[in-house]
Amino acid sequence: MKRPKVFFAIFLILAMIITLLSCAKSDSSINVEDENVLNTKTTYHGTAMGYNDLINVDVTLDDGKILDVEVVSHSETPGIGGELKDIDGKLVSNGGEAPITLIPRLMVENQSINIDTVTGATVTCYGIEHAVADAMVKAGLRVDAVSSATEENDDFKNKNELVLPEKTKKELEKYLDRVHFDIKNEDLATDVVVIGSGGAGLTAAISASKNNANVIIVEKNGEVGGNTLVCGAIYNAPDKELQKKLTMMSEEKIGVIEKALNETPVSEEHKKLQDKVRVELEEFKSLNNELTGGAGVFDSESWFALQTFNGGDKIANLTLVETFADNAFKTLELLKNMGFKIYDGISQGAGALWERTHTSVMPMGTGIISTLLNEINKHNNIKILTHVEAKEIIVNDNKEVIGVKCIDKNKNEFTISTKKGVVIATGGFSANKEMLNAYNTKWKDLNDATTTNRETSSNGDGIKMGISINANTVDMDQIQLLYLGNVQNGKLTRYPKRDVNAVDEIIFIDKNGNRFVNEGDRRDVISESILNLDENFFYILESGDGDDYVDIYGNDFESADGFSLDYLIKNEYIYVGDTLEELCEKINVPVENLKATLEDFNKYVDGEKKDTFGRTLYSTKLTKGPYVATPRKVSVHHTMGGLKINEKAQVLDTDNNVIKGLYAAGEVTGGIHGANRLGGNAVADITIFGTIAGDNISKE
Ligand code: ADP
Repeated sequence: MKRPKVFFAIFLILAMIITLLSCAKSDSSINVEDENVLNTKTTYHGTAMGYNDLINVDVTLDDGKILDVEVVSHSETPGIGGELKDIDGKLVSNGGEAPITLIPRLMVENQSINIDTVTGATVTCYGIEHAVADAMVKAGLRVDAVSSATEENDDFKNKNELVLPEKTKKELEKYLDRVHFDIKNEDLATDVVVIGSGGAGLTAAISASKNNANVIIVEKNGEVGGNTLVCGAIYNAPDKELQKKLTMMSEEKIGVIEKALNETPVSEEHKKLQDKVRVELEEFKSLNNELTGGAGVFDSESWFALQTFNGGDKIANLTLVETFADNAFKTLELLKNMGFKIYDGISQGAGALWERTHTSVMPMGTGIISTLLNEINKHNNIKILTHVEAKEIIVNDNKEVIGVKCIDKNKNEFTISTKKGVVIATGGFSANKEMLNAYNTKWKDLNDATTTNRETSSNGDGIKMGISINANTVDMDQIQLLYLGNVQNGKLTRYPKRDVNAVDEIIFIDKNGNRFVNEGDRRDVISESILNLDENFFYILESGDGDDYVDIYGNDFESADGFSLDYLIKNEYIYVGDTLEELCEKINVPVENLKATLEDFNKYVDGEKKDTFGRTLYSTKLTKGPYVATPRKVSVHHTMGGLKINEKAQVLDTDNNVIKGLYAAGEVTGGIHGANRLGGNAVADITIFGTIAGDNISKE
């Protein structure tokens, strides 16, 4: 009875080997392998790599037609490759349909798998097209042999192209006719043009529209949100109510304030600010019975301004800094009233230098962008044009701004003329190597540097357009490196939330298990210390301790950008050990060193010993597993220089006169952060000055 089974098994194995061999060979005669394949309605499954992970599609073919294409699973970034949802889980239109549904729909409508790519989400689009090609190959249609639906980028072209007989090629080519998006722009007129749809651009549009201005936002990507979509979404603002809940001021923290007050002022304005903080601190101390009243953490608009100014080496424009600090809480309230949800607690964000950081409850910048888009949808005087790149600001003979020259994805050139002017909100130049190299004097060499920012957003366009109409720039050499880039591509992704928003609960260790810096220090100081390590990377270490501890094994756990524990571990974004021994084995760190490091650190928390690196922020001893180590490296993050503006967000020319009708907001501007931007100050900056710019331009 056993023999037939054995024979059958051998036969099966042989058949499999033969099939595999025939699949593997690069046979030019392979074409439509089974004539009947298209005549029977069948669904084929295809897979290809997207931006974040595999994209799986089901492709249904019948009677020579593509009946249906469905993405059945993917991990593409919400708002870029994937769909953007708001806090209630409602789909938010992000300047158009998300690639993950748009591309499949267009494939069916056009009977082609060669669809234009959405700018900013190219890799996702290629991923979908490759996955569909994979499914069609499984159906016997060697579409991959003719093209892999990716004519724009050689890197993605099929490496093992097959030579096909002409007849077969013709049969297949019908699926590969390039389909272009239906984009056709012509000259327009409006009150205000906003260039760029990150946080600065969207807030500018909203505040201008509230003053009844008609606004057109032009965005060169195929979707809205820019780099703001992938930011850490932490927001600094003094917040008395929430700060009251924090542990009372320690002597170290009072020491930090007193040090800032005892510095020799660099200007009369600086002195005035110090004097203001001095009075406020005395009030705080007496009101709260000198550190014993449990009064929370001292803060004020003036102390926020002073820390921002000092943290940027006192080179910023103090008037702008004070405008920024004075409006931070107010603008946060404005955002909250639009529906922006933050955690009900304050922390100290990475490089924030003080416990005044608020954190969005949604992954990365999706909370802020979905909120702003929902608000924009309530204003029918705002129009968004995606896939439209601004090329030139138009000025009249009096050098007043009267419009913008644009070009769209289908190369239509057109002009938008404006009654009131233009807000430049195009972000920084972190992804423009030429500009980085031209302006960098701060860091040794940025040639091989990665960036946390989006390659299709942060190209410095607005700065160049401004310069070409005689706008002034400031602090262009001030380029920020951030130490939170993942070691694989330098992006600010795939980290447990505490890494960025709870500096009090983590430590940094090198590959030997030793601490090497004050984790609460300035971003430039920490980045420099990492560049000086042997390996140029380090681990952020967190433990199973702490009030804000989120159980990493719990169902709720996800990285700050929404990825699961399994994904993070499998792709080596984090390493987890229930004991120090287990963790150290995984990251190849001598366990006795790490034990000694933690012993010392826990003594600092207890006040038994003083930290040699000068850390002042302690809330949690690191005593128990699970321990999580997140490897990180420095990556270009923020360009602090840019167009010179005044406190009304008007752009100044090279003689420091206002350029009439030209405003700028967000990372495209300079003068607010000086030599080092505090963590948590960017989202505040872009939304504060975006709001100011929109308000003022609409009153022109
Ligand atoms: P911020 O944080 O200052 O708001 P972001 O980087 O988030 O800046 O957003 C800037 C936006 O501007 C991005 O969406 C980017 O694609 C867009 N942008 C940049 N240059 C141009 C341009 N020349 N025309 C249209 N949009 C642009």
